[in-house]
Amino acid sequence: MTAEHEGCPFCDRIRRRQEFLALRPRAVAFADAHPVSPGHCLVVPRRHEPDFFELTLDEQSDIWELVWELRELIEAERHARAFNVGINAGAAAGQTVDHAHVHLIPRYDGDVPDPRGGIRWVLPERAAYWD
Ligand code: AMP
Ligand code: ZN
Repeated sequence: MTAEHEGCPFCDRIRRRQEFLALRPRAVAFADAHPVSPGHCLVVPRRHEPDFFELTLDEQSDIWELVWELRELIEAERHARAFNVGINAGAAAGQTVDHAHVHLIPRYDGDVPDPRGGIRWVLPERAAYWD
Protein backbone atom coordinates (compact mmCIF):
# COMPACT_ATOMS: atom_id res chain seq x y z
CA MET A 1 0.00 0.00 0.00
CA THR A 2 1.37 3.42 -0.89
CA ALA A 3 1.44 6.36 1.55
CA GLU A 4 -1.31 8.01 -0.52
CA HIS A 5 -3.80 5.33 0.50
CA GLU A 6 -2.95 5.28 4.18
CA GLY A 7 -5.76 6.61 6.30
CA CYS A 8 -8.18 6.72 3.37
CA PRO A 9 -11.59 5.69 4.77
CA PHE A 10 -12.84 4.49 1.40
CA CYS A 11 -9.75 2.35 0.64
CA ASP A 12 -10.22 0.92 4.13
CA ARG A 13 -13.83 -0.02 3.38
CA ILE A 14 -12.91 -1.48 0.00
CA ARG A 15 -10.09 -3.52 1.52
CA ARG A 16 -12.45 -4.91 4.18
CA ARG A 17 -15.37 -5.30 1.72
CA GLN A 18 -17.46 -3.47 4.30
CA GLU A 19 -21.21 -3.27 3.64
CA PHE A 20 -21.35 -2.70 -0.10
CA LEU A 21 -24.80 -1.91 -1.46
CA ALA A 22 -23.74 -2.83 -4.99
CA LEU A 23 -20.52 -3.44 -6.84
CA ARG A 24 -18.85 -3.53 -10.22
CA PRO A 25 -15.32 -4.58 -11.23
CA ARG A 26 -13.99 -1.01 -10.92
CA ALA A 27 -16.38 0.65 -8.45
CA VAL A 28 -18.47 0.03 -5.34
CA ALA A 29 -21.36 1.73 -3.56
CA PHE A 30 -22.04 2.07 0.16
CA ALA A 31 -24.12 4.14 2.55
CA ASP A 32 -22.70 7.50 3.55
CA ALA A 33 -21.59 7.37 7.19
CA HIS A 34 -23.19 10.78 7.87
CA PRO A 35 -26.22 10.86 5.56
CA VAL A 36 -27.75 14.24 4.75
CA SER A 37 -31.00 12.44 3.90
CA PRO A 38 -32.26 8.88 4.47
CA GLY A 39 -30.63 6.66 1.84
CA HIS A 40 -27.72 8.99 1.00
CA CYS A 41 -25.01 6.83 -0.54
CA LEU A 42 -21.64 7.13 -2.22
CA VAL A 43 -20.29 5.52 -5.36
CA VAL A 44 -16.50 5.28 -5.48
CA PRO A 45 -13.83 3.79 -7.74
CA ARG A 46 -11.95 0.82 -6.25
CA ARG A 47 -8.68 2.53 -7.22
CA HIS A 48 -7.49 5.31 -4.93
CA GLU A 49 -7.61 8.45 -7.07
CA PRO A 50 -8.39 11.79 -5.41
CA ASP A 51 -9.49 13.61 -8.59
CA PHE A 52 -12.78 12.55 -10.18
CA PHE A 53 -11.61 14.01 -13.49
CA GLU A 54 -8.59 11.66 -13.53
CA LEU A 55 -10.75 8.53 -13.49
CA THR A 56 -10.64 6.30 -16.55
CA LEU A 57 -13.68 5.95 -18.77
CA ASP A 58 -14.03 2.32 -17.57
CA GLU A 59 -14.14 3.52 -13.96
CA GLN A 60 -16.64 6.23 -14.82
CA SER A 61 -18.79 3.71 -16.66
CA ASP A 62 -18.94 1.42 -13.61
CA ILE A 63 -19.64 4.40 -11.35
CA TRP A 64 -22.60 5.61 -13.42
CA GLU A 65 -23.99 2.07 -13.72
CA LEU A 66 -23.97 1.92 -9.92
CA VAL A 67 -25.66 5.32 -9.65
CA TRP A 68 -28.49 3.94 -11.83
CA GLU A 69 -28.69 0.70 -9.83
CA LEU A 70 -28.75 2.53 -6.50
CA ARG A 71 -31.36 4.95 -7.74
CA GLU A 72 -33.67 2.01 -8.52
CA LEU A 73 -32.94 0.45 -5.13
CA ILE A 74 -33.64 3.69 -3.24
CA GLU A 75 -36.81 4.32 -5.22
CA ALA A 76 -38.06 0.83 -4.40
CA GLU A 77 -37.04 0.77 -0.74
CA ARG A 78 -37.61 4.38 0.28
CA HIS A 79 -40.08 5.62 -2.31
CA ALA A 80 -37.84 8.56 -3.15
CA ARG A 81 -38.76 10.21 -6.43
CA ALA A 82 -36.13 12.97 -6.57
CA PHE A 83 -32.37 13.01 -6.21
CA ASN A 84 -29.39 15.30 -6.01
CA VAL A 85 -26.36 13.75 -7.69
CA GLY A 86 -23.16 15.54 -6.78
CA ILE A 87 -19.39 15.46 -7.03
CA ASN A 88 -17.21 17.66 -4.85
CA ALA A 89 -14.11 17.77 -7.05
CA GLY A 90 -11.32 19.55 -5.19
CA ALA A 91 -10.97 21.13 -1.76
CA ALA A 92 -12.30 24.50 -2.94
CA ALA A 93 -15.44 22.69 -4.09
CA GLY A 94 -15.84 21.09 -0.67
CA GLN A 95 -14.16 17.70 -1.10
CA THR A 96 -13.16 16.36 2.33
CA VAL A 97 -12.28 12.74 1.50
CA ASP A 98 -9.43 12.50 -1.02
CA HIS A 99 -10.81 9.48 -2.83
CA ALA A 100 -13.09 10.45 -5.72
CA HIS A 101 -16.79 9.77 -5.16
CA VAL A 102 -20.28 10.56 -6.37
CA HIS A 103 -22.96 11.46 -3.83
CA LEU A 104 -26.44 10.10 -4.56
CA ILE A 105 -28.82 12.00 -2.28
CA PRO A 106 -32.49 11.03 -2.30
CA ARG A 107 -34.90 13.91 -1.73
CA TYR A 108 -38.35 13.78 -0.23
CA ASP A 109 -41.35 16.06 -0.51
CA GLY A 110 -41.11 18.70 2.20
CA ASP A 111 -37.61 17.77 3.43
CA VAL A 112 -36.75 21.47 3.15
CA PRO A 113 -39.28 24.31 2.95
CA ASP A 114 -38.23 25.39 -0.57
CA PRO A 115 -36.03 22.97 -2.53
CA ARG A 116 -35.71 25.17 -5.62
CA GLY A 117 -32.15 25.50 -6.88
CA GLY A 118 -30.85 22.27 -5.34
CA ILE A 119 -27.09 22.17 -5.85
CA ARG A 120 -27.06 25.87 -6.72
CA TRP A 121 -27.05 26.37 -2.93
CA VAL A 122 -23.35 25.42 -2.77
CA LEU A 123 -22.97 29.20 -3.28
CA PRO A 124 -25.94 30.52 -1.30
CA GLU A 125 -25.66 34.19 -2.28
CA ARG A 126 -26.22 33.36 -5.96
CA ALA A 127 -28.52 30.37 -5.64
CA ALA A 128 -31.92 32.01 -6.02
CA TYR A 129 -32.11 33.39 -9.56
CA TRP A 130 -35.91 33.36 -9.78
CA ASP A 131 -36.60 36.28 -7.44
P1 AMP B 1 -16.96 15.02 0.45
O1 AMP B 1 -17.07 16.18 1.37
O2 AMP B 1 -17.66 15.20 -0.87
O3 AMP B 1 -15.52 14.59 0.28
O4 AMP B 1 -17.76 13.85 1.14
C1 AMP B 1 -17.17 12.87 1.94
C2 AMP B 1 -18.30 12.00 2.43
O5 AMP B 1 -17.76 10.81 2.94
C3 AMP B 1 -19.14 12.62 3.56
O6 AMP B 1 -20.50 12.68 3.14
C4 AMP B 1 -18.93 11.67 4.73
O7 AMP B 1 -20.08 11.50 5.51
C5 AMP B 1 -18.54 10.38 4.03
N1 AMP B 1 -17.70 9.45 4.77
C6 AMP B 1 -16.56 9.73 5.44
N2 AMP B 1 -16.02 8.58 5.94
C7 AMP B 1 -16.84 7.57 5.55
C8 AMP B 1 -16.84 6.15 5.74
N3 AMP B 1 -15.86 5.54 6.42
N4 AMP B 1 -17.84 5.44 5.22
C9 AMP B 1 -18.85 6.04 4.54
N5 AMP B 1 -18.90 7.36 4.32
C10 AMP B 1 -17.92 8.12 4.82
ZN1 ZN C 1 -8.70 5.76 -1.12
